[in-house]
Amino acid sequence: MTTATAVPTTIPFVDLKAQYRALKPDMDEAIQSVLDRAAFILGPETTKFENAFAAYIGVKHAVGVCSGTDALEMALRGCGIAAGDEVLTVANTYIATCEAISLAGAEVRWVDCDPKTYNMDASQLEKAITPRTKGIMPVHLYGQPADMDPIMAVARKHGLRVIEDCAQSHGALYKGRKTGTFGDAACFSFYPGKNLGAYGDAGAVVTNDDALADEVRLLRNHGQRQKYIHLRVGACHRLDNLQAAVLGVKLPHLDGWNRNRRRVAKWYDEKLKSVPNLVTPYCPDTVEAVYHLYVVQVPNRDEVQKRLEADGIETGIHYPIPLHEQPAYAHLGHKPEDFPASHALGPRILSLPMFPEMTEEQVDRVVERLKAALR
Ligand SMILES: *Cc1c(COP(=O)(O)O)cnc(C)c1O
Repeated sequence: MTTATAVPTTIPFVDLKAQYRALKPDMDEAIQSVLDRAAFILGPETTKFENAFAAYIGVKHAVGVCSGTDALEMALRGCGIAAGDEVLTVANTYIATCEAISLAGAEVRWVDCDPKTYNMDASQLEKAITPRTKGIMPVHLYGQPADMDPIMAVARKHGLRVIEDCAQSHGALYKGRKTGTFGDAACFSFYPGKNLGAYGDAGAVVTNDDALADEVRLLRNHGQRQKYIHLRVGACHRLDNLQAAVLGVKLPHLDGWNRNRRRVAKWYDEKLKSVPNLVTPYCPDTVEAVYHLYVVQVPNRDEVQKRLEADGIETGIHYPIPLHEQPAYAHLGHKPEDFPASHALGPRILSLPMFPEMTEEQVDRVVERLKAALR
């Protein structure tokens, strides 16, 4: 672990070991307790975490499932979206957003992102709507809320379902309201590196809709409410009870971790603001971001990344190739220029180290090496 004063020789992109060390006694006890009771599937920890997470987001229901990707697919299916339907989302997101739409049997239709916020450009939604469009899946990318008011206005006007992809936005606020409370449903990932992460794959669907919550509960557990009575062809997509125990220990710390992430982001913002040829994140004052990622734009990104790596600084790229240019979606026949903002970001974006335990000394070192790499 890095102390407050020592300048570390390498700076990781995220530091999950530091977080575990801080939680170790509580975490070990919670895990041991599940083992002692052999309460592995849909145990009391799952119900307890679902209730606590629903209360944290401010919705009636949270249904624990096995990943963020499966959460998205089940939310879509729960909304009745299926083969023959189209769902609108952004081209600059993680593949899982689109996979979920495809796995539900529907067609993906993309809109471009706003080049400043990197989130869904709501002004492009209406012209993308066809008679088959049934839903919109906005993504709160990098932990910054998408512009939900205009998105919800288009959805209401055209009778579309909205499923928020909150995989990067646990606790983020849009006009003072948490992401995950705007759409018909919202989906969270608890992949280990997310702002709230399990020790394996996990996710949740949240909603205020009783019937939708019930449907997702059916779908995640072989379509059964009662053992061996299968009302739907469902799936084996339950939240693992050991992961629920892990998440239950971590949830009370989420706001503190998000505060620390914002502090790290502020250090970066201040120390990078006058660096030529570098674009820092633009955050409108209607949102409070939770900085799942801190993404800058630089020229010669691959070269800059290599130089940082040589200096012991781990970075990431989220994401190098937009989805309309991926081989998996070649059948949709898009050209790179169809979504110019998403296309332009691919070769320019760079995600800097970002984790709640990061110290100002570590930020200073990243900034210093980044400036040197840009010279
Ligand atoms: C991580 C992520 C997902 C998928 O979550 P998993 O738990 O890894 O399946 C979906 N959408 C976005 C934007 C993500 O970052």
